[in-house]
Amino acid sequence: MLSHSFRLFQLFGIEIRINPGWAVIAALIAWSLAQGVFPDIYSGLATTTYWVMAAITVFGLAVSIIAHELAHALVAARFGSPVSSITLFMFGGVAALDKEPKSPIGEFMIALAGPAMSLILACGLYALSFLTIVPSTIADTARYLALLNLVLAIFNLMPAFPMDGGRAFRAIIWGVTGNKNRATLYASQTGKLFGLLFMGLGFLAILTGNFIGGLWWILIGGFVRAAAAGEYERLRIMTALKGQTVNQFMTVNVDTVPGDLSLRDFVDNYLYTYGHDVFPVLRDGQPIGIIGLAHLKSIKQKDWIVQQVQKTMTPLSPDLCTSPLVPAHDALRQMIIGQRTRLLVIDKGHLVGVLVLKDLLDHLAIRLALEPDAALEARSV
Ligand SMILES: [Zn+2]
Repeated sequence: MLSHSFRLFQLFGIEIRINPGWAVIAALIAWSLAQGVFPDIYSGLATTTYWVMAAITVFGLAVSIIAHELAHALVAARFGSPVSSITLFMFGGVAALDKEPKSPIGEFMIALAGPAMSLILACGLYALSFLTIVPSTIADTARYLALLNLVLAIFNLMPAFPMDGGRAFRAIIWGVTGNKNRATLYASQTGKLFGLLFMGLGFLAILTGNFIGGLWWILIGGFVRAAAAGEYERLRIMTALKGQTVNQFMTVNVDTVPGDLSLRDFVDNYLYTYGHDVFPVLRDGQPIGIIGLAHLKSIKQKDWIVQQVQKTMTPLSPDLCTSPLVPAHDALRQMIIGQRTRLLVIDKGHLVGVLVLKDLLDHLAIRLALEPDAALEARSV
């Protein structure tokens, strides 16, 4: 869901991105504010005034969410877990930590930084609305934005892992027991319970006639449940791959394609012959890119005779490559983030193997079936 997002701008070296779904939700919020909420609480204003107030509120909400995530990100950087991007998406924002926090105190501070920022914004905006130089419509909008920030802080503080409150809760168990994995298990079970509770409240709301509000709670509950389960699953995977490196999983006898081959020869002598759908491309023995079935779709069949593989392939880039001694879980994360099904394993400029996602997952499936609770015994990942 997060992969389909667009870059907005960069701040403190962190990329701020937006998911198109957020724009849809923002438009819905603006509409309900201009048509229902504002005319109800601030009656007697012109329709255009309500729309202007709604637009400012939605823009202010986006800025507030970015500030909340930025607070997480800046504190995370201080604790050695830099953040490369922040994405605005359906239920708010996500700051993607490049590495997990290393200490419970780090995790605790990172988790609470966001809600703290939202509380500060709520107080600031509320104070702003009382300044006499501020026009009354702006003051009303600021007061409403203050309320939204307060809701953002309180909602995120609920101990529903992986929400902020849940992360703080995990940090406390981690600090007390010294076992991060056990803390993750408890936090994720609590998170799943909260997800159910939210969904139950949603159904109750629908039964009592609040259809839209109820639907929201069901959606949020489902999301929290899935995210809480996902976090524990991720921990199990990382534990199962602990201490293993890429060279233990890679395929070494790799079928490669010369760069100056025509696409026609590539199709006849490689695609049809070997039965793989992607091949590394070599020039003078050095890897220069990958080519596969997907590349051929954009080229007309009659051009296959003249067009060379190296003109059509995806050139080598860091997200396509790994090295033999890289930890397997880092390579797995790289494949998931980059949505790659294979990585070229390169050692001193030479192709030494290919890491295939399916091989890694097959290995994992076997380990997780044989050692279901291995994650609890390992003390940290
Ligand atoms: Zn947060």
